[in-house]
Amino acid sequence: MSLMPDYHMHTPLCRHAAGEPIEYAARAVELGLVEIGFSDHSPMPRDDFDDWRMRYSQLSEYVEKVEAARRAFPQLTIRLALEVDYLPGGEEWIRHLASLHPWDYLIGSVHYVSDTWDVDSPFKLSEWKKRDPFEVWSLYFERLTSAAASGLFEIIGHADLPKKFNYVPKEDCTPLFRKFLEAAKKADCAIELNTAGLRKDCREIYPSSRFLELAFAAGVPITFGSDAHAPGEVGVDFDKSLAAAKAAGYRKFRKFAGRKWTEASLP
Ligand code: ZN
Ligand code: FE
Ligand code: FE
Ligand code: ZN
Repeated sequence: MSLMPDYHMHTPLCRHAAGEPIEYAARAVELGLVEIGFSDHSPMPRDDFDDWRMRYSQLSEYVEKVEAARRAFPQLTIRLALEVDYLPGGEEWIRHLASLHPWDYLIGSVHYVSDTWDVDSPFKLSEWKKRDPFEVWSLYFERLTSAAASGLFEIIGHADLPKKFNYVPKEDCTPLFRKFLEAAKKADCAIELNTAGLRKDCREIYPSSRFLELAFAAGVPITFGSDAHAPGEVGVDFDKSLAAAKAAGYRKFRKFAGRKWTEASLP
């Protein structure tokens, strides 16, 4: 029995991850994974947009590092991907990025609810303190819904990311989740079970079990990711994400090559 592919892994080019792709691949082989995918934070049109992503000029270096890992571990299938920030109006830039290399899939993530506030930043907790959580979650899901509807992404990353620091609305967010899931279904876009949430204050997989149940009911497919920022995080807690997927009703997941999906059965 082999575990699901880990489709969400970073590299040091994003400036906040440790370990070379070769080391992530070595860890994956050690764990018995047969497939992984690198999805590092993609460049923005301006390199000084923030300080936690690769620069535009580093894209080919990124591809080379992933190719080096492929050469070192021919027994392992290694996918080439990006975690792309979705901001309204950024569609043209994302289409440009998509045209540059033979990506296997693109993960669309929303971190920014404005041009300056990335809601998962531990340095910007003061923003949360100034705002009503429901207002922030509404803004976030509006953007996430546009990201799914854009048709630019195969996978949407960590769908309920705003829960990271436990700023969770008292209001019922089901309508926000439903609207997003409808857009994802319509655009044939998957969501990922991302185990990084278990390592954050929220201590929960992204997305929650309730969200996953709604996703299953809406017919939205899934993938799996650790959001590893170090080799030791590859495949971490995949037993828990497998159990969460099954509890929500899932029996299948998606794999990607050349931006086309195939389906496989959960172990
Ligand atoms: Zn990161
Ligand atoms: Fe992310
Ligand atoms: Fe990530
Ligand atoms: Zn991420």
